[in-house]
Amino acid sequence: MKRNEILKDRISVREYAADNQKFVIEEFTDSISVFNGIKMADIEGKGEIMAAMAEELGCYLRTKGIEARFVERISSNEILCLKTEIIPLEIVTRNIVAGSMAGRLGIEEGLRPGNTIYDLFYCSPELENPLINDHHAVALGFAGYDELDEMYSVARKVNGILSVLFDRAGIALVDFRLCFGKLPDGRIVAASEITPDTARFWDKETGERLDKDRFRMDMGKIGDSYRSLYQRMKSVLQ
Ligand code: UDP
Repeated sequence: MKRNEILKDRISVREYAADNQKFVIEEFTDSISVFNGIKMADIEGKGEIMAAMAEELGCYLRTKGIEARFVERISSNEILCLKTEIIPLEIVTRNIVAGSMAGRLGIEEGLRPGNTIYDLFYCSPELENPLINDHHAVALGFAGYDELDEMYSVARKVNGILSVLFDRAGIALVDFRLCFGKLPDGRIVAASEITPDTARFWDKETGERLDKDRFRMDMGKIGDSYRSLYQRMKSVLQ
């Protein structure tokens, strides 16, 4: 599969049109960035770990009936995906309070509410991806209520499947972000990968962070932590 023009150029993921109109190629780079690109670095081998994780989880979720745009891994740091019409919404599913939710509501990180929390964000880098609600999304024409229900349902199922999987590896799935796209036949599918750049993972015993927060918080050993997360996940997938 040949790569054509760049469709999206984010710091850690680059998306290309494939020679066939039905697909896009997602390339994971070694770059990492936080605070809207203000803090950036290169972590050797990161792109490869991210692609490997996207592949393992993409295949695993498929066996569990989750429809996603992921098709297959095509090189050490690239995956092939179905081309979708991107819906400019992100659902963040939270099992443990952390990150922006803790800051926004003045809660300490680590609180485990009795219910799962779903936050809806409008993907607009110019507006710094604001938190919105279902009514805003419908009013702005991004999705209908039934389509939102479908997206929350996918997020809930993915959360159930992955929480159990990572729990077996002694890791808590704290939160994760999921984007969605529409296939030409109108079906809504998951259109982003779950990686330590888009999800938080904490060791259940020690609380050690195995995700991008290590970079945000200057904790170091980012590559080692990403590799360890991947190995632990892989050991329970076999
Ligand atoms: N996240 C993401 N992309 C974003 C914002 C958040 O992948 O643009 C992920 C983030 O890594 C975390 C989850 O979504 O796992 C929840 O992020 P949060 O809203 O707490 O914001 P953050 O603290 O990451 O800025």
